[in-house]
Amino acid sequence: MSSELEQFLSGDRSRWSYLYSYPHKTAYRRFAEVVSLRSLWAEEPKDSLYLYTHIPFCASKCSFCNLFSLSRPGQELVDRYLDQLEVQARAVGAATGSAKYSGYAIGGGTPSLLDVPRLERLFSIQSSVFGVEPSHRGSFEASPDTLALEQIQYLSSVGLERLSLGVQTFDPAEARVLGRPRPDSALDALLETVAHADFPVFNLDLIYGTAGQTPESFRASLEKAVSFSPEEIFLYPLYVRPLTALHRRGSGPDLEGERMDSLLEVGRQFLADHGYEQDSLRLFRRKDAIRTESVEYSCQEDGMVGLGVGARSYTRDVHYSTEWAVDRTAVESVLDAYLARSPEAFAQADHGIHLSMDDRKRRFVIKSILKARGLDLVRYAQVFGSQARSDYPDLTELERLGMAQVFEGRFRLTPRGLALSDGIGAWLIGAQVAARMNEYELR
Ligand code: SF4
Repeated sequence: MSSELEQFLSGDRSRWSYLYSYPHKTAYRRFAEVVSLRSLWAEEPKDSLYLYTHIPFCASKCSFCNLFSLSRPGQELVDRYLDQLEVQARAVGAATGSAKYSGYAIGGGTPSLLDVPRLERLFSIQSSVFGVEPSHRGSFEASPDTLALEQIQYLSSVGLERLSLGVQTFDPAEARVLGRPRPDSALDALLETVAHADFPVFNLDLIYGTAGQTPESFRASLEKAVSFSPEEIFLYPLYVRPLTALHRRGSGPDLEGERMDSLLEVGRQFLADHGYEQDSLRLFRRKDAIRTESVEYSCQEDGMVGLGVGARSYTRDVHYSTEWAVDRTAVESVLDAYLARSPEAFAQADHGIHLSMDDRKRRFVIKSILKARGLDLVRYAQVFGSQARSDYPDLTELERLGMAQVFEGRFRLTPRGLALSDGIGAWLIGAQVAARMNEYELR
C-alpha cells in the first residue's frame, strides 16, 4: 500500500513550489506588536550575514511571474525608491550594529533596469552602510531586455562575482507565451559580451513546461545556452500561479507530472552530456568551473538582512519583510507604503513570522535536502540536540521509497528524489505554517 507521502508525490502538483525560504512568505502576518530591530538582532550571531537588496521594477511583466515587481516605472519613481532604500539602509544598519557579511545579492524585479549612475548609488549605499563592497561575493540579476554594454562593463569593472541572466527560452513561440521579448541576434550578441566579460560566474536561466514546448524545442534552447559556456544554468519548472497573466488566460501548461518530469530529464541528460552537474532540482554547474559558493555563509543557519520593498530578513527566530503582492494595484499600494515609511518605522519589524523550534528544525532540513549535497546529520544534531530522522520520520520514508539515502553522514535525495523535490519540500511544511499559507489571501 502506498504511503500518504508517496500519494502526495504522485498526485496533483498545484501545491508544489520552490521554497526560496521556509516558512514561505504567505505564512507571514502583521505582528500583534511591532518588534524593534535592535532587540531582534541584539543576540544574533553576526559574523556571517547575507545582504539582499530588492529592486522591484521591470521593463514589462512576464506572463508567469508572481514576484514582487512593478513594470514600467518612471525614472522619478526609481529615484524616489533609491532615496528610500538609503533611508532604510541607515536605519537597519544602525539597528543591526557591527556585522560581517559573507555575501550579497541584488535581485528583483530587474536590477539591470538601473543605469550606471544609479548602480553606483546602489553599491555605494551597500558599502557605506554595511561595508559590503561590489567585489564582495555578490550576485546580480539581470534581464536581457534591460542590460546594456555600459552596465556589463561597469559590473565587470567593480569586480562583481556573479551575473545572472533570465533568458528563459531561445524559442520565439515560447517567448511569446512567456511574455518575453522575442529572442534575436541582439540577444546572442549580448550573451557573447557577458560570456567574455570575465565574471567568475555567469548564470543563465531557462524555463521548461511552457505550453507548446517540445523536447526538441527545449533541447534547442539548451544547445544555444551551453554555446555561451555559462558556469551555471538554472532550469525552472513553469508553475502557473494565481494572479499571473498565464493564470488569467488559463493558457498555461498542463501541470501533468509526466510531461514536466520528461522535460526535466531532457535537460538533466543534455547538461550532464555537456559537462554540467546537478546541484539542486534547478541548478546545474559546469564541472570545470571554479566553485565560488560562499564557504562561510550557511543558508540553513545564518541570518539575512533584506533591503527594499518585498525583501525578507531572517534572524534565527523571526523572519520579517514588508507585505507581498502580485496584482499591480496591490503592488503599488505596498510600494507607496514603503515610500512613505519613516526612519523610525524602518527600525522596526511589523510583518513576518515568529519561528517555533519545529519551524527552525524544518527550515534546516528543507533548505538542506533541496540541494544535492544534502542534510548534514551530525550538524543537525549539534544545532538541535536531536536526530533529524527521529524528529521527521518522513525522511526515513523517503529512504524506503528510494528517493533518498544516507551517504557519508549526509541525508541526500537520489536523482528521482531531486526531481520531485518541490513536492518533498511542500510535504515537509509544518502544519501551522501550512494552515497560515492556506488562509493567505493573495492580492
Ligand atoms: S520574471 Fe523577472 S523580468 Fe519577468 S516580470 Fe518577473 S521579475 Fe520581472
